[in-house]
Parts: sequence; structure tokens; C-alpha cells
Amino acid sequence: MPLRSTLLALLVPALLVSMLLVLFGQPTGALAAGLVTLAGSALALGTSRVAMERQLRALTQKTQSLAEGVMFPAGVERTDDLAQLEDAIDTLDDRLSTQNAALNQEARILTAVLDGMAEGLWVTDAEGTVVRHNDALAEMLRPAQGAIVGQRPLALIRNEALNDAVARACQEGASTRLELTLEGLFSRTLAVRVTPVGRDLPGSAAVFHDVTELRRLEKVRKDFVANVSHELRTPITAIRGYAETLQGGALNDAQVAPRMVEIIHRQSERLSELVEDLLELSRLEAREMTFQRTEVPLALAVSRAAEGVRPKAEGKNQQLSLHIPPGLVALGDGRAIEQVLLNLLDNAVKYTPAGGRVDVDGAYEGGRCVVRVRDTGVGIEPKHLSRIFERFYRVDKGRSRDMGGTGLGLSIVKHLMGAMDGEVKVESQPNAGSTFVIFLPSAAGPTAATG
Ligand code: ADP
Repeated sequence: MPLRSTLLALLVPALLVSMLLVLFGQPTGALAAGLVTLAGSALALGTSRVAMERQLRALTQKTQSLAEGVMFPAGVERTDDLAQLEDAIDTLDDRLSTQNAALNQEARILTAVLDGMAEGLWVTDAEGTVVRHNDALAEMLRPAQGAIVGQRPLALIRNEALNDAVARACQEGASTRLELTLEGLFSRTLAVRVTPVGRDLPGSAAVFHDVTELRRLEKVRKDFVANVSHELRTPITAIRGYAETLQGGALNDAQVAPRMVEIIHRQSERLSELVEDLLELSRLEAREMTFQRTEVPLALAVSRAAEGVRPKAEGKNQQLSLHIPPGLVALGDGRAIEQVLLNLLDNAVKYTPAGGRVDVDGAYEGGRCVVRVRDTGVGIEPKHLSRIFERFYRVDKGRSRDMGGTGLGLSIVKHLMGAMDGEVKVESQPNAGSTFVIFLPSAAGPTAATG
């Protein structure tokens, strides 16, 4: 309380009492009464001041406890004014607590959303230093130094274009899209979009989208289209060339005309084989084909497939021997199994020189039916073994084409086997023949299978 107000509060009652006594004709007692009143006022004032100070101290302690988030025990009685002040502080505290809880909740949701994103994300301050990032980015970058926060872009990704884009976003508010490659054991392609954070907020944000698989598929598609066009162009060019030569007068040349017509016929057959194989492969890849799961006696399937290649084998004076136990019964699609066997036998005959051998064995092994197609042909170098099941992959392009191959046979075999829960493997040595092995689910137990 200010000094003037304190003096007034003490003196005014004492003066009033003294004046009243003088007025009522008691001047002798006026001084004493005035002094007594003064003392009383001083005592009352002192007491209320002590109480006030005590309440204010308690209120200060409470406010501090609230600010520190500590519970404060109630207990000190308040005057009306102080009680109002305390209520106001309590209301303020309630409001702040609610707002804090809402902010915490929002921050948790934001973190969950950011960490749930497949794309990597970092946010920088106005100087371009990373101040925040999500889990996906840490997974993508895995920086040697560990921490990402506090780093400059160039320290995390050695890419000038990205560094410039971050600087432009921070300084000029410009957005940039770019693509970069992260070198490493498995190099990855990232599409990045760098943007300023916002008009009134300094800094930038960058979103990293891993497009490695997308680019790989694009390349596969482009290579496939290029391969198909090339494969189609070869017979078409031959057909057109010979047809034009015939039109140009060769038709009347009894010596050459039949040979040219024969070539046109062969090339058109090759064209139709190619188209058939392409259609088959595309149906398999699109999973448009339905596969039955029935009991397929393998001795029968192998002998049917062998009939398809026997004329060719005999033409090359090759010995084709089949040794499949009659009880070996697979679970699968009869037509698909025959097609697999036909492709493998066709290759065996094709890549085995005249006078060689092709043997087909069957057995029940490890709970599955196994068929081995073994030839004494040209064999395959180890470096090609993992690739011969790819579309259009051929060890010797010239030889394959000369022999009427499309480069799609083994790719179709692999797809068909996969669709029947089976497998195909190859063992081979150059000039020592090849063995293609297929594994199929068995329809019966060991006793029945070997019977
Ligand atoms: P292609 O129509 O060229 O025979 P495939 O997909 O059937 O196509 O086979 C791919 C490649 O694998 C062939 O070009 C050939 O180089 C090699 N190959 C397949 N089978 C044999 C085999 N039995 N002996 C040697 N090489 C083979």
C-alpha cells in the first residue's frame, strides 16, 4: 500500500473520533481517544497487511507451481479480490493445459503421418541446415555420420543440383524438381521436389521419392519393345525382300523361285511362332491364364512331348530315351506340364549336334516330382546360366535364330512352373551338355510315386 494511503487510513479515523469528542464537549478525552483509535487502526492495518502478504505469497507460489507444472496444495484463505485473481489464473491454466494437449496431439499426428510416408522428407531452416526429417529419409540416406539434423544438404548427398535447389528455395522462394542417383552397393534413383516452406516461414522442404523400381521397369519395357521390334523385323524384312525379288521377275526363274518361296514360308512360320510365344508370355505375365491342379502322370506327359520332337531328333540322328517311373504322378496342369517338357526337349534337340543323346529321367525326391532333361549338346557357360530364363536372352543370338529360336521358350517355362508352384533349374558346362530339371508338387506319397 502506498505511504499516503496508509497515513490517511491511520489518521482519518483518529481525527474523526477526536473531533466528535470535542464537539460533544469532551475536549479532555479527545486526545486520548484519538490516540487509542490511531493505535487500533494501525493494528488493524498491520494485521490485514500481514494477511494480504501471506495470500500474495501463496498465490505467487501457486502461479510458479502452475508454470512448472507441479501440483500445489490448497489451504490459504483468500480475500475476494485475490480469490478472483486466483480464479483467473486457474482459468488461464486450464486453457493453457487444453491448448497444450491439443498441440501435443497434433504434433504426434504430424510425426506419425511423416514417419508413415514412403517418401523421404527433410525441412531446412533459412540457411539450408536440416532441422527435421522423417524415418523414410533416414532409411534412404543412412548417413555415415549418423545424424541428419544439423547437416547441410551437400554433407548428406553429394549433389550440387540439390544443394542449389535448396539455396534457391530458401533465398528466392523457388521450387525445383530434379532426379539424382544415390551411389552405393545398390544404387538408387530419387526424384526430388524442393519447395520453400511457406510465405511467412523461412526455410525449405524437400520430398524424396524412390523411383528406382519405376525406372527399372521403364527400362525393361523399353528393352522389351526394342527386342520385339527387332525380332519381328528380321523375318518381315526377309519375307518382303524375297517377295519383291519374286515380283521383280524371279518368279519366272524356275531355279530360284521355289527356294525363295520356301524361305518366305519358313520366315512366316517363324513370325507366327514369335507372335504365339509373345501372346503366351503376355497372358502368363498378366495372370490371365487359369491353371488346373489335377493328377498328371508324368510318363504320359513326357512321351507326348517327346513325340513332338522325335522327327527332329531322328533327322539329326540323335538318341532320345525316356525313363519315367509309371507311378510318378504330379499335381498340376496337364497342358502346361506338356508345354514345359516340349520346350525343354526342343532346346535339348536343338542345341545338341547330330549324333548326340537326349535322356529324360523322372524320380520322386524330397516330396516332389522331379524330371531331368539331359543332353550331350553345346552346353552353357556359367556366366549365362542365371540369365537364360530372361525374355529374349540368348547365349548365341545367331545360332538361336538360325535354329528357329524365339528367345522366349525358357522364359515361358519359368512362368509356367511358377504358376504351378513348381521350379526349374539348370546345370551345364560348355561342350559337356546341359541338364534342365523341373520340380513339381506330387500327387502321391513315396510308395505310390516310385511304384
Ligand atoms: P531360344 O528360342 O533361343 O532357344 P530359349 O528361351 O528357349 O530361347 O533359350 C534361351 C537360350 O538358352 C538359348 O538361346 C540358348 O542359348 C540357351 N539354351 C537353352 N537350352 C539349351 C540347351 N539345352 N543347351 C544349350 N543351350 C541352351
